[in-house]
Amino acid sequence: MKGLMQEHELLISSVIRHAAENHGDREVVTRESDGRITRSCYAQVEQRARQLAAALVGLGIRPGDRVATLAMNSYRHLECYYGISGMGAVLHTVNPRLFAEQISYIINHGQSRALLLDPCFLPLVESIAPRLKKIEHLIVLTESTLMPPAGGRPMLCYEQLLDAAPGSYQWPSFDERSAASLCYTSGTTGQPKGVLYSHRSTLLHALVSLQADCFGLRSVDAVLPIVPMFHVHAWSMPYGCAMAGAKMVLPGNHVDAPSLVELIQSEQVTMALGVPTVWSMLVNHLRDSGQSLPSLQRAVVGGAALPPAIRDALEQCSGARVIHAWGMTETSPTGAVATTTANLEQLSADERRAELLKQGRPPWGVELKITNPEGEPLPSDGISSGQLWIRGPWIARGYFRRGRERVLDEDGWFPTGDVASRDAYGFIKISDRTKDVIKSGGEWISSIDIEHIATAHPQVRFAAAVAADHPKWGERPLLIVVRADGSALGAEELLEYMRPRMARWWLPDAVVFVSELPLTATGKVLKTSLRAAYRDYFLTAPGQPTGNR
Ligand code: ADP
Repeated sequence: MKGLMQEHELLISSVIRHAAENHGDREVVTRESDGRITRSCYAQVEQRARQLAAALVGLGIRPGDRVATLAMNSYRHLECYYGISGMGAVLHTVNPRLFAEQISYIINHGQSRALLLDPCFLPLVESIAPRLKKIEHLIVLTESTLMPPAGGRPMLCYEQLLDAAPGSYQWPSFDERSAASLCYTSGTTGQPKGVLYSHRSTLLHALVSLQADCFGLRSVDAVLPIVPMFHVHAWSMPYGCAMAGAKMVLPGNHVDAPSLVELIQSEQVTMALGVPTVWSMLVNHLRDSGQSLPSLQRAVVGGAALPPAIRDALEQCSGARVIHAWGMTETSPTGAVATTTANLEQLSADERRAELLKQGRPPWGVELKITNPEGEPLPSDGISSGQLWIRGPWIARGYFRRGRERVLDEDGWFPTGDVASRDAYGFIKISDRTKDVIKSGGEWISSIDIEHIATAHPQVRFAAAVAADHPKWGERPLLIVVRADGSALGAEELLEYMRPRMARWWLPDAVVFVSELPLTATGKVLKTSLRAAYRDYFLTAPGQPTGNR
């Protein structure tokens, strides 16, 4: 027997329609590239998104066609989110921080027919334009007076397109399982792979992210996604904020610490989201300038493990509750969130804080399992660690245009490539990516744990532990460190600090000081490049002390 409830497709257009009708005057604030602040609101975003949809239809874009964006976080990018997916086309967000070859590969592989770009990416697009065979329309996200002079490939002006489009366009209805957006993994190993989200998966994921025990979004919130809208939907904020009616604060390309701090203060931001390297940059600036962030209530940290030192510094300079979350492009991204539970409330404050440093528990909708190399489930004892698997309605089942490549196991589980353990409270702890784990004398050492202990030293700004080949042990940990400004910290002093805090055989065999660490296009430490550079360190560096084992 079927239920007697109304059938409505779960479509992305319904989110912005809801926001326009019920939170129409709630602001969407953007810092423009020249530093000016522009104030839009959900009613305007919805109106202009419909005009964009009408303009794209006029350009011949059809449902299912891919339409790419190369843009920072702004109200115009938000309009693209809703205009493109809302009309039934596929929003293809492209990460402008990748290499030019990767960008053209991703745009070509996605077969996008139009590309909307911020003016700051014009030189980049001009350099790769001859390779973008499928792109029929280049649209610059700006007004007519700021359009680049004609020459090279013809370009359309976004504001002119909108002005000429009818305001009467109505959102179409279609199957909620239709593709809504496409985002490529960073491809630190091999070519980037496209994850194709549906309207249904996007809405279910956004709804769950709103929960009090996830990010707890409310209409009274002012939310600053420092995470970019060009990568995994800025962790769903463009959808979640509109669903909740929260004010959005979008930093454009001003993502340096002073600009972000100023924006948080002036717009009374209550929640901000970023990767650990960004938070580290912010807390260092706050410390150096003696400022604080009194309005900030929640700081969401994800994309890489949260170092305890950053959590402590964030709490000190803002009073914010720090929420640690885990996910990946293939998981939309929310897969686990560390927020308190009734059981955790029974623990001492210190025990609870230790638990909340882990990556957390899955929200409703996703299931997690951890297996040994034979594929057998491991006990939730907080010690046994193995491959982490995930499944649920917002988890990828395959990659875009990769033929019949099989991604899931026979029971529909997606292999995350992360190594994790789960404890009796149901909290998972990621100890590494499979490829980053340090295999020493047949046992595994967590690079993340070593890094957290090193970064707790007040004179360490960033630390990365990588596996270097070792004649006796196979691999040994090598620690690569960026010192705090003005510090003359030495290797022995740092190792002495770390020694009592970790198992003896985990202690790195050597420390290398560098002025900066290579970062991926999403702001995480680029371990592949460090491993390539230092792989032979213990084989070639003379006089290295070997074998802390
Ligand atoms: P990429 O970094 O290649 O762009 P993703 O953004 O999809 O790809 O990154 C996903 C990976 O980031 C996860 O598989 C995991 O290794 C790592 N990651 C994400 N969040 C966390 C976290 N909170 N703690 C530890 N690792 C994390």
